[in-house]
Parts: sequence; structure tokens; C-alpha cells
Amino acid sequence: KVDVKDLVKDYGSNHVLKGVNFQVQKNEVVVIIGPSGSGKSTLLRTLNKLEEPTSGSVVIDGKNIADPKTDMNKVRENIGMVFQHFNLFNNLTVGKNIMLAPVELHKENKEEAAEQAKRLLEVVNLSQKFDAKVQSLSGGQKQRIAIARALAMKPDIMLFDEPTSALDPEMVGDVLQVMKQLAKEGMTMVVVTHEMGFAREVADRVVFVDDGRILEEGTPEEIFDHPKNKRLQTFLEKVL
Ligand code: ATP
Ligand code: MG
Repeated sequence: KVDVKDLVKDYGSNHVLKGVNFQVQKNEVVVIIGPSGSGKSTLLRTLNKLEEPTSGSVVIDGKNIADPKTDMNKVRENIGMVFQHFNLFNNLTVGKNIMLAPVELHKENKEEAAEQAKRLLEVVNLSQKFDAKVQSLSGGQKQRIAIARALAMKPDIMLFDEPTSALDPEMVGDVLQVMKQLAKEGMTMVVVTHEMGFAREVADRVVFVDDGRILEEGTPEEIFDHPKNKRLQTFLEKVL
């Protein structure tokens, strides 16, 4: 499904990813943990070519995204991305935010797109908000709308980059609940998060990134209960 080989990413003289090998299987939930500045977001962003690899390969469903012949718009349509800051259109209603890409990019008709938006609002437990203005929502609600919007493109895989770290603590649970549900339904997911409880409960595999390298990966039990790498042990002592 996703196959990253020997991925190197430099920003000038800043060596951010130093040879990363990373796979994600269909229906797998992979949680990426690691210290600030270690390269987690950069790794996630190279998966849909928001960043160009300096070297190495990123293959998504058999398509090498470094190949200029690969239609990146097609690849990106199958990858939903949710960021720390929701990036919603504040001047549009909730419904219009969710309908926008299906109508503009998939040429779905508006009635169908609206029906789908309403179904997705039920999925994220915000069925009353179709006509609400985005500004009127809380951070946690906005993030759930951002998830619904990503799902509207029927992606094969969802990437989450610290989706709860900008939220007030009491709103974190609602967002994690929606993500948990998605995972249960078999969505393929890569999640960068500091929510270790979520990682332990939902991840099939946890990947520890430090200083541009994957230093250890394994099941939640292996990573949290029997960490082998010294740097991982130190990291866990700080965050748990
Ligand atoms: P955090 O937990 O704080 O989000 P992270 O693990 O996601 O950290 P990245 O955002 O991937 O880390 O950043 C890794 C390194 O790459 C940092 O040193 C950062 O300054 C650098 N970096 C990231 N994006 C850019 C960019 N667009 N231009 C230059 N340097 C960048
Ligand atoms: Mg980051």
C-alpha cells in the first residue's frame, strides 16, 4: 500500500530524514511518535508529495510518486489529510466545506454531495451542523468537520498530523473517538500524535522517529512495555 525506501530529506544543510524505510499495509493503523523536530511531519508530508524527497522512493499503491508521469492529483484524491490547524474555509458553511472537493474535483452533483455530507456529519457526531458557520464551532468540532471533509473524497488512506494538539483538553476525546471509530471500520491510517493512550489502544504498529531515523517499531505492547532503544526509553519516561 505505502512503501517508503531509503527516504532522505534535506532542507539545505539541515538533514531532516536520514534514510527512512516505512511501510503501511491496507487496513493498518500506524502511529508515529517521537520528539519535536525529529521529522514526523516531514515524513507524513512526503507521502502525498507536499514535500519532495531529496532521495529515496515513495510508492503508493504501486505508483512511484517521484515519477513525473504519476498523476499526483489522482494519488492525492485517495489520501485524506488532517492537520493540527483544520484549514477549513471560515467563510463557508460546514456543509459547503465538506461538499467542495467532491463537487469541484469529482464533479458529483450537489444533491448527492449534500446527502453524503449529511451522512458524514453523523459519522463525526455533528449531524446538526450542516448549515452552521465554521466560525461558530469549537476547535474540537472544527477538527471533526475537517475529518468529515477528508472522508468526503473517499480516500483509501488517512494521514493525521497531531490532530488534537491544538485543542482544549476537553475536546480531545471527541476527536479521538471519531478516529477510533474510523480505525475500527478498517480505514488505513497514519497518525502522528502525542496521545499515547490512543496509540496503545488503536495502533496496530507504533513507529518511533528520532533525529530523522526510525529507531524502533513494533506493537504498542512492544513499544510501551518493552522498549529496547535507549532514546525511546528516555522519550517514554518524559511523555508517559
Ligand atoms: P513537531 O513534533 O514539533 O511537529 P516534527 O517531528 O514534526 O516536529 P518536522 O516538522 O518534520 O518535525 O521538522 C523536522 C526538521 O525539519 C526541523 O528541524 C524543522 O526545522 C525542519 N523543517 C521542517 N519543514 C521545513 C521547511 N519547510 N523548511 C526548512 N526546514 C524545515
Ligand atoms: Mg510535526
